[in-house]
Amino acid sequence: MTPLERALHDRIRAEGPITVEAYMETCNSYYYATRDPLGAAGDFTTAPEISQMFGEIVGAALADCWQRAGKPEDAMYVELGPGRGTLARDALRVITRAGLRPPVHFVESSPVLRQAQELAVPQAHWHESICDLPASGPLLVVANEFLDALPIRQHVGGVERRVELIGGHLAFDRDGEIVETSPARDAAVTALCRRIAEQGGVALLIDYGHGRSAPGDTLQAVRAHRFVSVLESPGEQDLTSHVDFQRVAEIAAQAGAEVAGPSEQGPWLERLGITARSRVLANATPERAGEIEAARARLCRPDQMGSLFKVLAIHAPKWPSPAGL
Ligand code: SAH
Repeated sequence: MTPLERALHDRIRAEGPITVEAYMETCNSYYYATRDPLGAAGDFTTAPEISQMFGEIVGAALADCWQRAGKPEDAMYVELGPGRGTLARDALRVITRAGLRPPVHFVESSPVLRQAQELAVPQAHWHESICDLPASGPLLVVANEFLDALPIRQHVGGVERRVELIGGHLAFDRDGEIVETSPARDAAVTALCRRIAEQGGVALLIDYGHGRSAPGDTLQAVRAHRFVSVLESPGEQDLTSHVDFQRVAEIAAQAGAEVAGPSEQGPWLERLGITARSRVLANATPERAGEIEAARARLCRPDQMGSLFKVLAIHAPKWPSPAGL
């Protein structure tokens, strides 16, 4: 039994069944606080860890918006859940070349990942939540695989689904057609969009999910690059759910921001020049040409990350809409 599993058993014995939301929140807080889960030796691999091209294209999209917005000097780079800092490092290289050296602000809860981020981007400032970001200056924001890690609630026939103990094992208390909501995700998107509407700027939200709200159970667990049961080894596996981008877009509009997309990740990367960039990189390092093409295919192909992953942009009413959406 994992240490967290023992604590969950004790809690359910004392309090009764806990909501899926409390379960996911407890598991992911422990999971991210105790390890770096990324990469081949970890549990899952994200787009920026596959290729530098991903972060470069994010950087180019943000820099292009900044230029078309009139190059405000006080713009800052903001990343939510920056992992190892790889995306930020790649994006900032391109942003710097476009003429901006922005202060860097990371929203990150994990002390382990903060250490990795410090190695990649030593000049960064760290924050616990979006509310702690500086209150003036336009924001150039990216969040890749951040929203999917925030806890969700599940309801079956209008009744909240919980995790209980049956015969000494964790089990769901009901099954059926599941409707998911995420107050934590809604709150994060609201806080971000209010800031963007007031301070100016743009955000690229990239995650796997769907463009239209629909019922369905999308909670999943990944460990060592395989899907595993959600209730197995709590705290030792990554719990995520699909992002409902229709809901994110509605929340953004309510908070006074404008929305572009969502677009599927593959076509978005193609429109922003990933094929040309992969050729330049392959010509510069011919011995790596095969690896570069494989990374491009993994990011773009519909049967890999190209379709399931979506990109949604949010921008201040006075800011331009990012290219490629
Ligand atoms: N964006 C990175 C990492 C994705 S993993 C990449 O693409 O590689 C999810 C990231 O979000 C991790 O950095 C994790 O520590 C962070 N995170 C998860 N829940 C969080 C929360 N509630 N507040 C702040 N950061 C969180």
